[in-house]
Amino acid sequence: MSESQEFLVAFGRLARSKFRSRFHLSAEDRKYIADKGIDVIRRHAEDFIRTRLAPACPPNDGRQTPMRGHPVFKAQHATATCCRGCLEKWWKVPKGTEIPLERQSRIVDFLMSWIEKELSNPPSQNGSRHNTGP
Ligand SMILES: [Zn+2]
Repeated sequence: MSESQEFLVAFGRLARSKFRSRFHLSAEDRKYIADKGIDVIRRHAEDFIRTRLAPACPPNDGRQTPMRGHPVFKAQHATATCCRGCLEKWWKVPKGTEIPLERQSRIVDFLMSWIEKELSNPPSQNGSRHNTGP
């Protein structure tokens, strides 16, 4: 399976979670991405994963990812890559071990594809969401 096919399967699993699927980019998040550019957002995602998730015992594990304040934080909650508990439960990344660089970049790819997917959908209005997906 190619990476993009794997991501499609993964997005399908996430879509069945009420908690995960309620996360969406806000107008503010979209503006932030537009201002910074997608490459900068990717670098932020790499930094967050490297410093907050990748160590064998990340500081504050379980509470290291705020619910808002950066589009990547939203993406992490939406994709269950917010803490080592979720990474283990959803994606079988074993806790208590450092996440190898290769796996880190796959997580970043996944986060970025969630962000791209959000950007390709119109922003939600009045709390209701225009769903263009199948
Ligand atoms: Zn979590």
